[in-house]
Amino acid sequence: MFDSGDPEANRKRMVDRLVDRGRIERERTIEALRTVPRHAFVPDSRRSAAYADRPLPIGEGQTISAPHMVGIMCDLLALEPGEAVLEIGTGCGYHAAVTAEIVGAENVYSVEYVETLARAADERLGELGYDVSLRVGDGHEGWPSHAPYDAIYLTCAAASVPDALLAQLRIGGRLLAPIGERRQELVSVRKRDDGLERERHGGVRFVPMQGSAE
Ligand code: SAH
Repeated sequence: MFDSGDPEANRKRMVDRLVDRGRIERERTIEALRTVPRHAFVPDSRRSAAYADRPLPIGEGQTISAPHMVGIMCDLLALEPGEAVLEIGTGCGYHAAVTAEIVGAENVYSVEYVETLARAADERLGELGYDVSLRVGDGHEGWPSHAPYDAIYLTCAAASVPDALLAQLRIGGRLLAPIGERRQELVSVRKRDDGLERERHGGVRFVPMQGSAE
């Protein structure tokens, strides 16, 4: 595809295509993807591919999720301004920034397992004005001190939904996660006062969640 070299124009074209193909629908999601400068989150050597709709390597064997996947996850969670959101797997911070555009950066909490990635994401998000709260740790444990959350999502695949995360969700809150090992499915869970309501959203491919499920 012709690359004009103008990140804003390329970003707009990428988002327009996602909308045309019906991959993202909610106005808040579309606006957020139109706003966050994805090229600022990818390594310099990958800048020219920042607005192609695919995952890219970000170092430490990890990847930045494809824009359509970030958009689909925001749509499925139906995030609203002011909601408290916990992200597991900060990576380069791109998805956290998109979430921050919707709910407000002060409402976003993110846990990353790899310290070097967390440090780089913290610096980058700060420079771009997204003052989200980051912590280095094992996302299986969530971040109890800021619970309960309205929404929790994982950007790495867990073998099963970690109990600690369900415990940190408020009643009425929803969780979205890739679940499985070799075969993964995107699964949403709504926490009701009388139990959990699960829904499956098809096959996906995310990096595996590290650490311990115990
Ligand atoms: N949201 C990111 C995608 C990151 S890829 C983005 O927009 O770029 C998934 C991330 O999950 C990786 O950074 C990986 O290090 C992290 N991860 C893996 N296991 C984890 C765990 N147990 N707790 C927290 N983060 C974890």
